[in-house]
Amino acid sequence: MTKRIFHSICIAAAAVLAAAVVLFLCVLYNYFSETQFSQLKVQTDMAAQGVSIAGEDYFNGLDTKKYRVTWVDEDGSVLYDSRSDTSDMENHMEREEIKTAFETGQGESKRYSSTLMERSLYYAKRLKDGTVLRLSVSQNTVPALLLGMSYPMCIIIIIILILSVVLAKRLSKSIVNPLNSLDLERPLENEGYDELSLLLRRIDSQQKELKYQSDKLQRKKNELDTVVDSMNEGIILLNSRNQILSINHTASNLLGISSDPVGEDIYEVCRNLALQELLSKAQDGVRTEKIIDFADSYYQVDASPICSGERVAGIALLFFDVTEKEKSEQMLREFTANVSHELKTPLHSIMGYAELMAKGIAKPEDYVRFAERIHTETRRLVQLVDDIINLSHLDEGAVGMQREEVNLYTLAKAAVKSLEPEAESAGVALSLEGEDVFLTGIPQLLQSIIYNLCDNAVKYNRRGGKAEVEITDGAAEAVLSVRDTGIGILPEHQNRIFERFYRVDKSHSKAVGGTGLGLSIVKHAAKIHNAKIELSSVMGEGTTITVKFPKNKI
Ligand code: ADP
Repeated sequence: MTKRIFHSICIAAAAVLAAAVVLFLCVLYNYFSETQFSQLKVQTDMAAQGVSIAGEDYFNGLDTKKYRVTWVDEDGSVLYDSRSDTSDMENHMEREEIKTAFETGQGESKRYSSTLMERSLYYAKRLKDGTVLRLSVSQNTVPALLLGMSYPMCIIIIIILILSVVLAKRLSKSIVNPLNSLDLERPLENEGYDELSLLLRRIDSQQKELKYQSDKLQRKKNELDTVVDSMNEGIILLNSRNQILSINHTASNLLGISSDPVGEDIYEVCRNLALQELLSKAQDGVRTEKIIDFADSYYQVDASPICSGERVAGIALLFFDVTEKEKSEQMLREFTANVSHELKTPLHSIMGYAELMAKGIAKPEDYVRFAERIHTETRRLVQLVDDIINLSHLDEGAVGMQREEVNLYTLAKAAVKSLEPEAESAGVALSLEGEDVFLTGIPQLLQSIIYNLCDNAVKYNRRGGKAEVEITDGAAEAVLSVRDTGIGILPEHQNRIFERFYRVDKSHSKAVGGTGLGLSIVKHAAKIHNAKIELSSVMGEGTTITVKFPKNKI
């Protein structure tokens, strides 16, 4: 812009200066021509008087360097000429100024030389004796003048050009400087050209609009980021080159990414083969989903290609947490398999004995023994079915069971009493200590917790051992503690004994009538009461299981 302004000013200044010089020259030339002509007239008048008085003698000693003097007779013949010999001169009657002077008393004319480089001014005056006196003077024409002044003209042109360049430079700078120093961040604070105020106001309003729009966008983006980041579902967006465009916290955690992976290749940050398989299918334009195991959790991963025409422009990966569903399905599968297995064994055994008896293969003396076995197996079956029913009831959240104020000690007393025959036949001293402790709970479930723990303390004990039940009243919790001096549980089994059908020693459990569901029922019933279970056990010395019921939170 500075260059354009500079060039324009340069050209304009040079043109104006040049025009001014030419016009000035013309005006001056005219002025001097007029002056010269007036002088010519005065000189002619003076010479006419001289000739009228002195006749031809007047010309003697006359200085005619400046002017040419010609004296013409009435017939046009030249009587005197200051420059030429009169005998060689032609008749002057037809000369314009002379002709006019003969007719009107005075005449004038201007004539150019053949080269147009010179111009002659003529003034003629008729004398009283009828003759005509003419004076003429030569002057250079404008081209001749210019030609003659070529050297000073060159210097003038150079000065004009230098002046134009300097002026143009200064002017263009002074024009552009305020534009360059405009503060577009704060357009209205600029003090420059008034002509720019409209533009600056427009810029200011557009800036405000832009800021409003970008703030709005930023707010929306922040909101979206917050929502996406706080989602339990993972989201990853990839471009066509498999670079990560966006990833939320859940997805980062799942892939074990600690730093910001935006812009990185997904294959470099994720080594999960199952996921890579999904990605390669999505790249082929096929939407695929799969349940993938990430450490302890299961996620259903959806890989959807984002298509632009025929081309896959990106991939959206969605991770849905299906751990609970997967685990419960797995548990259900295991439970069904375990139940079938647990039911099949006693049923086979019952069927076998019954068959022996029905076909008469069994000896009469074995009948009582077989009937007892059938009875034992049937009791086990009934116990198993009871436990399964209880457990499934607990799985449903103990619907329909009423909570009420109960005395834990009274419940423990009843459980101990009902187990006394078993304890006696096992040679275990079963005792109860403690005090009345009241809490709000479901009596049937509290009863089954105490019963199962006491039952185990008797079952997995040794002859002559002890099983002690204690009920204590804590400030915020009611504590049930069942301590035995039994066989104990190895540390690696301690966490697992609360799983369904888990038994440390299957044959021993079966021998003592266990179903493998007792502690599962205890765990679920405790959970419904928000109670905490603690277990400590030493092999060969005994086990203590403590259940702490919060009094307020039940
Ligand atoms: P079961 O019906 O077999 O007793 P439980 O769920 O009550 O099933 O117990 C699971 C397993 O935990 C038992 O088979 C047993 O091996 C072990 N167990 C439970 N209580 C005790 C205890 N007090 N002492 C030793 N082992 C125990």
